[in-house]
Formats: sequence, structure tokens, C-alpha cells
Amino acid sequence: MDIFWSAVVFLFGLVVGSFINVVVLRLNTGESIIFTFSRCFSCSKRLGAGELIPVLSFIIQRGRCRHCGSSISFQYPVVESLSGLLFFLIFLKLGYDIAGGGVFSIISSALVFLFFAVLLAAAVYDARNKMLPDIFTATLTASAAVYSLLGGVFFYDMLAGLGAFLFFALFWFVSGGKWMGFGDAKLAFGLGIFLGWPLVIVAVLLGFWIGAIWGILFLLLGKYGRKTQIPFGPFLATGAFLAFLLGKDMIAWYNHLIDFT
Ligand SMILES: [Zn+2]
Repeated sequence: MDIFWSAVVFLFGLVVGSFINVVVLRLNTGESIIFTFSRCFSCSKRLGAGELIPVLSFIIQRGRCRHCGSSISFQYPVVESLSGLLFFLIFLKLGYDIAGGGVFSIISSALVFLFFAVLLAAAVYDARNKMLPDIFTATLTASAAVYSLLGGVFFYDMLAGLGAFLFFALFWFVSGGKWMGFGDAKLAFGLGIFLGWPLVIVAVLLGFWIGAIWGILFLLLGKYGRKTQIPFGPFLATGAFLAFLLGKDMIAWYNHLIDFT
């Protein structure tokens, strides 16, 4: 039964990922996100149902449009797979709590899925456009606030969110928007409320570490110049997801380490 439901959640995550691609590509373009059919970006041919299957269509068509043969962006299968993996890991993390704790636990579990789906969309949008639209950060903050209300530690979560917001707002202010955008501060607000104290610290530290390693790696590979602007949102988002999954274990491991020295 576990394997069955895990597969269902994974497949649902793939479909959500396909929707995230649509949102990211159509947001702020004036195109309707829901009421427009998907078309090939090169030949504008409307895509049929067989061309819209997450990941599979891309593999079957070898990454090319069936009509004009132009190549399809890798973003599609990558985001779809990431979303499937995300949903699967959240499901593993939440485990039996989803159905076991009654209505509140079902709502709060649904909020976790919603929160990370929006976070993935925000991260992909930031990676592409180097900015975080308010619609994402506002949705994240609102769903985090409801989630935290249900969790019963609203006041402390709000403080954690405010602390994270001020920390990034300071970076933004001091650097004149060069190191961090103000969008990062708004993103940190929602992440702080969702994760609470002390997980928000784990998320921010992981975000900086992953960002630094990524930056150095791409600098060494010659893909980045010294002045390349790297959006921080994707790293902060990754840090937040890892903190949600493993943060408590990381803190326990760290405390254990200190006890020995
Ligand atoms: Zn085409």
C-alpha cells in the first residue's frame, strides 16, 4: 500500500511540475495561465495530449517538437522530475501523519505540499529571470502563516520569519541590492514562518553553503565571470527544503558533535 501511494504522490508531483513550468513561462507575459492551450514555442502548433505527458513525452520525442523538430528546453523534464521527487520526499517525511490526525492534519499536510510547490516555482522563476514576483512570496507567506497557526506556535514562527526578513533586508540595504534582492528578504519571511526557529537558521546556512559551492564550481568551470549575478532564491529554497527534511537530525548531530569535544 505504501509503495502504491508513494507512486501516486510521485506521479501527482510530476503533473504539478508540468503546471509549474507553465506558470513560470507564462507569468507576467499577459498570457492566461489556465485558459490557453500549450503550444510549441517555435512553430506555435497546439500540443496534443500525447505531447503533454510529464517527462515521458520529452524522452519519447527525444527532446524535439513532433511537428517542426526544434529542440525543447531541458527545463521541462528537469522541473517535472524535481517536482515529483519533492512530492515523494514530502510524503515520506509526513508519513502516516497525513491521514492519522484528522482534518487539521490533512489541511496542514496539504499546505506543506502547496508551500513547496510554490517554492519550486519561485526558485525556477528566479533562476530564469533573476527576480522573485510578489505573487510567489505572498502565497508562500500566507500559506506558511496558516500552516503555523495550525501548528500552534504562530507567535514564535512569526518572530523567526521577521528575523530572517530583517537579516536579508539588511544584506539588500547594505549592498544596494547587489548581493541580495529585496525579493530574497520577502522569500526569507515566508520560509522563516514556515520553518520556525531554529530550522530557519539551518535553511539560511545551507543556502549560503550551497550557493557558495555552486558559485565556485561554475567559476572554476568558466561558466561564470567574476561579475555574474547569481540569484539567491534557488539556493535559499534548496536550503529550506533540506532543513524541512533533515534539519532536526542535523541539529541533533551537531549537538552530539559538540558534546564530544
Ligand atoms: Zn514545433
